[in-house]
Amino acid sequence: KREEEAIQLDGLNVAQLKEIREKAEKFTFQTEVNRMMKLIINSLYRNKEIFLRELISNASDAIDKIRLLALSNSKELETNPELHIRIKADKENKALHIMDSGIGMTHQDLINNLGTIAKSGTADFLAKMQDPSKSEGLDMNDMIGQFGVGFYSAFLVADRVVVTTKHNDDKQYIWESDANSFSITEDPRGDTLKRGSVISLYLKEEAQDFLEEDTVRELIRKYSQFINFPIRMWSSKT
Ligand code: ADP
Ligand code: MG
Repeated sequence: KREEEAIQLDGLNVAQLKEIREKAEKFTFQTEVNRMMKLIINSLYRNKEIFLRELISNASDAIDKIRLLALSNSKELETNPELHIRIKADKENKALHIMDSGIGMTHQDLINNLGTIAKSGTADFLAKMQDPSKSEGLDMNDMIGQFGVGFYSAFLVADRVVVTTKHNDDKQYIWESDANSFSITEDPRGDTLKRGSVISLYLKEEAQDFLEEDTVRELIRKYSQFINFPIRMWSSKT
């Protein structure tokens, strides 16, 4: 089991990523996503650590979804019966990996969920946030938290985000982005995840502190209180 997890959490290095990117199909973000990312980065730079709350909450949502699906078809769970979240600080690749055994994303999910903002009211929200006369006094962190634009907060600490994901109805894919555009490609390593996702954050120079296990453990403690699934720090020592 540990070996299996080690493989799942084994991050791609810079050269591998480059090769994958060259072969991948390229996409541009919906305009609203670009505006949202700028907004998040400009307003939350003092609260960078909230990225972990957002990614843990997405991981938990994904596990909730597969559990719900399994109520009507128990076979859905069989691909990976373990329901948990694993976090690994990968010093070698200067990356932080957040793994969940949730529902995963199909190729189409990746385009829809990580390339566009489906929520109604996004345009209103953006207009309000970008108009100083209207946004004065609003707690940006609160607003963004309520609005739930969580995933893009990954770019507060990472200059490259890689999502490896496997949904029961599709193959394993790699989505990767530098916040300007994104690409998707079939994972050349095959189906290592069985089911679920790994969000890999290739950390900015100024965010390298998130590679320290103590720092990450403290944040997990802070943000995991309301999470119903076990979250464990994956340590190279047993
Ligand atoms: P929200 O969680 O409010 O929907 P996010 O920006 O946090 O917004 O996430 C966008 C979408 O991306 C989610 O709704 C979900 O469909 C998808 N997603 C993000 N992380 C994961 C994950 N770990 N597993 C499966 N789907 C995910
Ligand atoms: Mg979310």
